[in-house]
Amino acid sequence: MSNPRVGFISLGCPKALVDSEQILTRLRMEGYRVSPNYQESDLVIVNTCGFIDAAVEESLDSIGEALAENGKVIVTGCLGARQDEILERHPQVLKITGAHATDEVVEAVHEYLPPAHHPFTSLIPPQGVKLTPKHYAYLKISEGCNHRCTFCIIPSMRGDLVSRPVADVLSEAERLAAAGVKELLVVSQDTSAYGLDLKYQSRDWKGHSVKTQFYDLAEALGELGIWVRMHYVYPYPHVDRVIPLMADGKILPYLDIPFQHANSRILKLMKRPAAAENNLDRIRAWRQICPDITIRSTFIVGFPGETEQEFEELLQFLSEAQMDRVGCFAYSPVKGAAANQLPDALPEQVKEERLARFMAHQAEISAARLQRRLGKTETVLVDEVVEEGSVARSKADAPEIDGQVFIDGATQLKVGDFVDVELVEADEYDLWGKLV
Ligand code: SF4
Repeated sequence: MSNPRVGFISLGCPKALVDSEQILTRLRMEGYRVSPNYQESDLVIVNTCGFIDAAVEESLDSIGEALAENGKVIVTGCLGARQDEILERHPQVLKITGAHATDEVVEAVHEYLPPAHHPFTSLIPPQGVKLTPKHYAYLKISEGCNHRCTFCIIPSMRGDLVSRPVADVLSEAERLAAAGVKELLVVSQDTSAYGLDLKYQSRDWKGHSVKTQFYDLAEALGELGIWVRMHYVYPYPHVDRVIPLMADGKILPYLDIPFQHANSRILKLMKRPAAAENNLDRIRAWRQICPDITIRSTFIVGFPGETEQEFEELLQFLSEAQMDRVGCFAYSPVKGAAANQLPDALPEQVKEERLARFMAHQAEISAARLQRRLGKTETVLVDEVVEEGSVARSKADAPEIDGQVFIDGATQLKVGDFVDVELVEADEYDLWGKLV
């Protein structure tokens, strides 16, 4: 009997991507094959996203497409927490699970598509099945979140914080590095809360004790000799402790830290910490310790009741903070979010207008910050080699969300190479460099 084939659609954020990788790794270990199209698959798994309404629609559409093209569909992921909504539109799905449910998904696959007789005939690479290119990988350190930001429904879908023990995370990181991964992207819903649920328990790691905690994890990952990038760092005060590790080159001088707003009344309504003055002081202090730090943040404009003056306070914060990379969403009322009950929802037109003003304001800041790097030599990691040259990323750029560094004519390089370039040109987001 030939090995059964599973099709897979992975939607949503990097955390969902890691779930997909874990499911695929398990299935491959059991002898299932992964098929690139619906027609050649015996069954399709759709890993959904439910973060904003557009993502919900995309997930429902993908389920519909998989049903039409294949017929046998298992649904997993964040949207799985809203079973009724899925079943209302697609009553034919075989099984629905929530996020982070590898065991349940694999069990459902067994039920509807039993494995072939020789489960260990297919060999798995040591790093497992990766959906990212070979030279970088996402490292998921925890699941869920203890916060209750009023605009977010992730905790209701993924539950409270559950951290992976530090020795497990470090073993995985070491395996990935040994398999040739050059950059680890540390992800979770709340990276800086890592270990809180495990009371920061210590584990023995290569002869010394390492705590299940943000700082210790960062320090130990820094010993691997590859790039380590921290994502989704909630702005707790203890985040300040990792900045010296960045200054010492142990982990990348890059902090993805969502501030969401600058006005203290709006932050309070969002149930987010700290007011703008504290955050500005902290950003200044970080830059003093680590002048090369890249700060990426995300914001929400048009939150219920946001006044023009409060919005302008946010623009003022951007001017003073001079952050490198900034993402912004116009507030959208996600079904089930507490913020939907707040009074004074803003008209769409006002939200869109504020979003446009925000983006234009920050675009100038980001562009000016790129200009400051021209003439400098930086190490970049090659992501892609094309006919015209190489496409790389600097320490300041995370894959998919930040900019790129183009090296015209450098077709002799290989994906995963680290090379030094002199930065010679920039636009609003990307840079151009010459090999040195
Ligand atoms: S920190 Fe807030 S926005 Fe982030 S996952 Fe937790 S509740 Fe959602």
